[in-house]
Amino acid sequence: MEGYDLIMRKQIVAGNWKMNNDLSQTQSLIEALQSQEITSKAEVMVAPTFTNLLQACEALKSSPIEVIAQNMHFAENGAYTGEISADMLKSVGVKTVILGHSERRAYFNETDESLAKKVDAALANDMRVIFCFGEELADRKSGNEESVVENQIKNALFHLEAQAFNNIVLAYEPVWAIGTGETASPEQAQDMHAFIRQTLADAYGNEVANNTSILYGGSCKPNNAQEIFSKPDVDGGLIGGASLKAEDFFAIVNAF
Ligand code: PEP
Repeated sequence: MEGYDLIMRKQIVAGNWKMNNDLSQTQSLIEALQSQEITSKAEVMVAPTFTNLLQACEALKSSPIEVIAQNMHFAENGAYTGEISADMLKSVGVKTVILGHSERRAYFNETDESLAKKVDAALANDMRVIFCFGEELADRKSGNEESVVENQIKNALFHLEAQAFNNIVLAYEPVWAIGTGETASPEQAQDMHAFIRQTLADAYGNEVANNTSILYGGSCKPNNAQEIFSKPDVDGGLIGGASLKAEDFFAIVNAF
């Protein structure tokens, strides 16, 4: 895609801690993170589990590391047992939420429709969204990875006004690479990221496309991050397993 001269998009590395770490383990991991040096320009974020968000926000209050949430509900409040609203997240200091992670789609029946509502609720509450999507192995084997990804993005996001993309970060996470040790090659990641950016450009124009950060997720490790991040359309990473060790996570962060 042309028009790279006005690129404003951010580089971001976010750690998704998933359902790992109780309170004291979270505190230890945060202390270990605080002992590391950030040498890259990337924004750094970590997503502890809900019960540890408040303590994590307090512990990292004066650090450049942002604490983000792994999920939220679309309703403002009400009879949704076990769920958490945008307002609740904001009340403990969280301003960014991951939505649409493949584990939420696979195990908790999250659909494009419910995700569209969650995205709307997050944006209506002035939150930033890291929106995840990605094809399954069967989609890639049958050559359908682009159409699957295009539909996931269109169905959940393309009802939005262009301005909304100021608060949206995309995270391409091929399901076959998440937690499997199998990574998309840097070329596969670049090809898909370029396709995603072009899809954005077709719908919203080059400015939105060039200014939207697109992260890669899927078995990103210290030994492969640099090559993946060196690709022009890869603006950072969403990191699962490797974000649970401060040294590995910072090796990835500092790969920029
Ligand atoms: C993820 O779950 O978002 C992820 C990328 O996990 P992992 O790095 O462990 O593959």
